[in-house]
Amino acid sequence: MDMFQRINEHQQVVFCNDEQSGLKAIIAIHNTTLGPALGGCRMQPYKTVDDALEDVLRLSKGMTYKCAAADVDFGGGKAVIIGDPLKDKSPELFRAFGQFVEGLNGRFYTGTDMGTEPEDFVHALKETNCIVGVEEVYGGSGDSSAPTALGVIYGLQATNKAVFGSEDLYGKSYAIQGLGKVGFKVAERLMEEGADLYVTDIHQHAIDDLVTKSKQLGTLIKVVSSQEIYQTNADVFVPCAIGGIINDETISMLNVKAVVGSANNQLLELRHGQMLQDKGILYAPDYIVNAGGLIQVADELYEPNKERVLRKTKAIYNSLFDIYKQAEMDSITTVEAANRFCEERIKARTKRNSFFSHSKRPKWNVRY
Ligand code: NAD
Repeated sequence: MDMFQRINEHQQVVFCNDEQSGLKAIIAIHNTTLGPALGGCRMQPYKTVDDALEDVLRLSKGMTYKCAAADVDFGGGKAVIIGDPLKDKSPELFRAFGQFVEGLNGRFYTGTDMGTEPEDFVHALKETNCIVGVEEVYGGSGDSSAPTALGVIYGLQATNKAVFGSEDLYGKSYAIQGLGKVGFKVAERLMEEGADLYVTDIHQHAIDDLVTKSKQLGTLIKVVSSQEIYQTNADVFVPCAIGGIINDETISMLNVKAVVGSANNQLLELRHGQMLQDKGILYAPDYIVNAGGLIQVADELYEPNKERVLRKTKAIYNSLFDIYKQAEMDSITTVEAANRFCEERIKARTKRNSFFSHSKRPKWNVRY
């Protein structure tokens, strides 16, 4: 009974154990009201199975909201592999993982997340079709960081409109934390627009690459330390690295007017959304802003179409703007407004599904 209380509202949790390859993984399916579950597979050397379970339950629930917000016909799911991505990977491990995914018979689609790469899933793809985000030569849609970065740009424009009255990226300053796949592309676009940038990364090579790019574009950027990034005079803080970076300590340091970035789970706790609001800082809920990658991989399962992905990613602008307006009207935080919007969308579909429950509907299998 305790375990059922623990998994609470989740529909299904699968423990995957393959002695031969050493695979120990957990797949969690949170909610399939909108369609089969979709979510990445994270690989991490979790200290305990309990930590891994906690993570996969939290992440899969987040995917339900993210799918609802992005208006893709998928539900929330996620997988975690317990292991060190630098030491424990093997083709056999990912093939074994693929077999477990196949065993779910189309209820769960997955791909890369922290600690896993598209190449890992080329092995899983030999066992199941329920894989997304591999390179185009393997039938996938390739690197999803480009639409994610574009979504951040639309998020910045909507936020500038809400805060400064104009969506122009030019004439504002941005503090970007993390210059990886997404952060670098966001920085590049902002430099092209002539915006002022403060940037930081824990890896010098990422900073060097951006400095080289800024010289090519003839723009100036200011490189700051990991701590200074919270204390700049920028208009907008753009977190594109890790989660939990909006917390008691960092909120007291922030001087910005808004926070808009790609990093997942930016708020350490829900109450930090309220704290930002109390300080007059507009927060763009992360799962609304960073949905571009999800939009691309979900789209891939129908028939890849870059134009359609672009159009759906563009919708992030209006979704975010509507959430800002709703939050203001209802005197709630932007996170509460976003969550409410997603819950209502899921509820509306539940009603629709029960209306059609007696008709003969085809089984979900979006790839064929
Ligand atoms: P990435 O690993 O390519 O880049 C992350 C960068 O952040 C790296 O350069 C790393 O050195 C840097 N970094 C890590 N910790 C830091 C710190 N404390 N201070 C400063 N820099 C730090 O990852 P990515 O794909 O660019 O994703 C960035 C964030 O956006 C992640 O939180 C990810 O979960 C989220 N996200 C990414 C996508 C996508 O399509 N790639 C989609 C949705 C959400």
